[in-house]
Amino acid sequence: MEVPEIPWTEEVELPVARAAVLVVDMQNDFVHERGALRVPDAAGTVDAIGRLLERARTAGVPVVYTQDWHAPDDPEFRIWPPHGVAGTWGAEVVEALAPRPGEVRIHKTTYDPFFRTELGRILAGWGTEHLVIVGTVANICVLHGAAGAALRGIRPVVPADGVSALSPLGFHLAFFQLTSLYRGIAVRSCAGIRFTG
Ligand code: ZN
Repeated sequence: MEVPEIPWTEEVELPVARAAVLVVDMQNDFVHERGALRVPDAAGTVDAIGRLLERARTAGVPVVYTQDWHAPDDPEFRIWPPHGVAGTWGAEVVEALAPRPGEVRIHKTTYDPFFRTELGRILAGWGTEHLVIVGTVANICVLHGAAGAALRGIRPVVPADGVSALSPLGFHLAFFQLTSLYRGIAVRSCAGIRFTG
């Protein structure tokens, strides 16, 4: 089997008034060393994500977070060990990336951040046309977020150093699907994303 190349972009400029940042599931259970479903590479993305969020906030680009928010007997726990149980420490966003007052947190129960949530309405209200997506897991909730955005006419922009997966295959697959199915932009690094205007 041949593994297709990803068409990487080095730099992308996004208009402040039409951009938003979605931080997917950077919760203790996925990121913290004591997390219930730790993604080993997730902690390594925290600094790059933090710097991106600082630049977004300074530019006036809105930031929205998702949190996996499961019932203790969620059907997803037939696939994965229990994680992201509503109201627990594990479901909280890691301290280093904690949302600022006024920033929106979307509580989701599936891989899809748009399913039975306010995310679609919120992005429509902001007039978002370019959605920068960071977080974890790249080929699961990040990819479902990219798909949901693209299918709503919003272009997903995903920086490689802002997402993490459980395997190199999962990581590569996320960017393959992003660029081949969803007209998404695969950026090499968070630093390559500029907010202009
Ligand atoms: Zn989950």
